[in-house]
Amino acid sequence: MTHAPHPFDALMDITARPPTVFVRGEGSWLWDDSGKRYLDFVQGWAVNCLGHAPPVVAEALATQARLLLSPSPAFYNAPSLKLAGALVQHSCFDQVFFANSGAEANEGAIKLARKYGALHRGGAHEIITFEGGFHGRTLATMSASGKKAFEPLFEPKVPGFPKARLNDLASVARLISDKTVAVMLEPIQGEAGVWPATDQFLQELRTLATAQGLLLIFDEIQTGIGRTGKLFHYEHAGIEPDIMTLGKGIGGGVPLAALLATEHAACFEHGDQGGTFNGNPLMCVAGLAVLEQVAAPAFLKATLDAGLFLERELQRLSARHGLGCVRGRGLLLALDLKLPIGPSIVAQAFADGVLLNAPQPDALRFMPALNVTREEISAMIDGLDAILMNIGAARMVA
Ligand SMILES: *Cc1c(COP(=O)(O)O)cnc(C)c1O
Repeated sequence: MTHAPHPFDALMDITARPPTVFVRGEGSWLWDDSGKRYLDFVQGWAVNCLGHAPPVVAEALATQARLLLSPSPAFYNAPSLKLAGALVQHSCFDQVFFANSGAEANEGAIKLARKYGALHRGGAHEIITFEGGFHGRTLATMSASGKKAFEPLFEPKVPGFPKARLNDLASVARLISDKTVAVMLEPIQGEAGVWPATDQFLQELRTLATAQGLLLIFDEIQTGIGRTGKLFHYEHAGIEPDIMTLGKGIGGGVPLAALLATEHAACFEHGDQGGTFNGNPLMCVAGLAVLEQVAAPAFLKATLDAGLFLERELQRLSARHGLGCVRGRGLLLALDLKLPIGPSIVAQAFADGVLLNAPQPDALRFMPALNVTREEISAMIDGLDAILMNIGAARMVA
């Protein structure tokens, strides 16, 4: 009657996973249950900004776990007040709402913009988003995403997300009508393959949004918290969005996300927004531990330097193997392979004990821990060099 199923079978099969179970991590390294060690340049999808199992996060979690887990989102708790205060102090925003995932933070941003439209723009509700953009996997955030593979899924979608083209201001301007309330984008499109908006485009977008009375929403779930060498990517362009979302890196590995807004845009009324676990002290102490490290100028400078080193090493590798250009900023970089060899490189690297990611078949994405060392970068480059050498040799023979 009962039989023991394979342990993998009890989890919904939502993505192709290697038949490996990971049991331990430390900094840039992960170990599976056979004791094999992997050099990790994926880091849970740019999540572990301080590397695997950072001691400062472990300490903060352990201490808080003994003190208080969830008083209720309808009561104040000290860590959420402290983290909100720190985020406001380090950014151009005035208020914070905490969430449990990036998609949930973006849902909050979409709701906030629609509320703003209802209050201030005669019911305007459309949010211009971008082809290739990725904002999450809830219905509204899939609808806001410009990912081709999402188009046929889960119809009907949430309406109200006309798509413009990145770095094409005219394509944004054309979509603006009296139904428009906001423009929302990732300053670097991460999942699409690390395609940056230019600083000039971001500046022009700010000017256009201000002139039209629209809110500018930055999805910094992948680019925020030091990933590009500034605490937030918007600082590179010298502009200030009205709304920003954070996720991934802010928790240093635990589920924490945030919706930030200027006083002008923060228009939720009681009953509009909430969530059982939102702003719970356990996740917020992790966020505080992360922010304390990452916001330090010396840490950001070291991240920028590591990014430049990785960029140069990738450019040298590219020249040696006749590949394409390196794009991105800080420690969110992609290497254009010019050929759809990404998945086979990722598979070979996995076998060799190096974790890489191919967001598109013809590109590799690098998103190591922000405190990755030169030695670790060089070790990854050497591994990749050997794989590319083999692929090149195989192509010569074929
Ligand atoms: C990962 C990501 C999201 C979704 O975050 P989840 O925590 O997976 O819901 C949204 N936007 C961007 C830019 C992301 O990189």
